Amino acid sequence: MDKKLISLLHRFGKVIFDEPMAKHTTYTTGGPADYFFIPKDPVCLGEVRDAATKEGLPFTVIGGGSNLLISDEGIHGVVVALSGEGESGIQIVGNDEHILYVDARVDKKAFLEFALRRSLCGMEFMAGLPGCIGGGIAMNAGTNMGWFSDILGRVRIIDKDGQVREQDMSDGMISYRGLKFDRGTIILGGYFRLRKAESSERPVRLVAEIIRDRENKHPLEYPSAGSVFKNPEGHASWKLINDAGLRGFQIGGAKISEKHTNFIINTGSATSSDIYRLIRHVQEEVEKKFGVHLEPEVRMLGEF
Ligand SMILES: Cc1cc2nc3c(=O)[nH]c(=O)nc-3n(C[C@H](O)[C@H](O)[C@H](O)COP(=O)(O)OP(=O)(O)OC[C@H]3O[C@@H](n4cnc5c(N)ncnc54)[C@H](O)[C@@H]3O)c2cc1C
Repeated sequence: MDKKLISLLHRFGKVIFDEPMAKHTTYTTGGPADYFFIPKDPVCLGEVRDAATKEGLPFTVIGGGSNLLISDEGIHGVVVALSGEGESGIQIVGNDEHILYVDARVDKKAFLEFALRRSLCGMEFMAGLPGCIGGGIAMNAGTNMGWFSDILGRVRIIDKDGQVREQDMSDGMISYRGLKFDRGTIILGGYFRLRKAESSERPVRLVAEIIRDRENKHPLEYPSAGSVFKNPEGHASWKLINDAGLRGFQIGGAKISEKHTNFIINTGSATSSDIYRLIRHVQEEVEKKFGVHLEPEVRMLGEF
C-alpha cells in the first residue's frame, strides 16, 4: 500500500480502489483502475502526479470515457476522472458575454445549453457529442461543421512540471482529432470565443437538426465510442470498411454497426478484447484490400 499517496488522495478528493472502468466508458467495457480518483479541485493534480510518480505508479486522466477502449486487465496506478460538472463550471469572462471559460469537467451538453440560452453561436457542432470539455479539447473533437480548435482561444493547464498556467492556442497545436500538447499536460479548462447569434432561434433549430441527423445515422441504441477510425487522407473510413465487406461483421460481442460502418458497437456481452480484435481485423482487411492504413481515433488505455 502506498500510504503517502493514499492519504494525499483522501485529502484532495474521493478515491475508489479497484473501480471497474466499465462503469466509466461508453463502451461499458474495461477492467479495474487501481486508484480511481475524483478530485475536489483539479489544481491538486500536479502534486498527486508527483506523488504517484515517486511511487513508480502510472497516472492517467480521463473525461467522460466516450473515446476510450480500456483493457479488460484494467489500468494500473492512479486514474483521475475529470467529469461530472454542470453549468456551475462555466464563467462569462470579464464583461464580454462572448468569451466563456469552461472547466474541463463540464459536459459538452451543459456548455451547449448554457450558450444557447444566451443566444450565442459557433458551438453548435458540439450537438450530440458525448463527454466533457477536457476530453473534447484533448481530442480536438468535432464534425464536418467545426472542431474545438475553431472556437478555443486559450487553455488552462497543469504543465509537465506541475505548474498551473495558461497557454494561447496556436496553429501548430491544431491537428485532426487531437490537439498537440506537451506530454503530460493536464487540461483544466478552456476559453471559448463564441458569437452573438442574429436570431436566438437559429442556433436552437440547427442544434435540433444536428441531433436528429445523428440519431438517424448513428447506432445510438448500442454502447460505442463513436467513430473508431480517423478518416485517412482522401478516404472515408466507413466506406473502406463497408467496401471490404465488413458491415455487420462480429467478434464475440463486438460488431461493425450495420447503420454506420465506422462504429463498433457492444451488442451486450462485448469485452474490450473483442473490440480490440475487431479493430485489428478491420485494419488487416482494409490494408489487404485497399492498401490503406486505418488509424484508430479511439484511445486505448492499459495493456492489449
Ligand atoms: C455516440 C458517440 C458519438 C461520437 N461522435 C463524435 C463526433 O462526432 N466527433 C468526435 O470528435 N468525437 C465523437 N465521439 C468521441 C468522443 O465523444 C469525443 O472524442 C469526446 O470529445 C471525448 O470526450 P471525453 O470527455 O469522453 O474524453 P475521454 O474519452 O475520457 O478521453 C479522451 C482522451 O482525452 C484525454 N483527456 C480527457 N480529459 C482530459 C483532460 N482534462 N486533460 C488531459 N487529457 C484528457 C484522455 O486521456 C483520452 O486520451 C463520439 C463518441 C460516441 C460515444
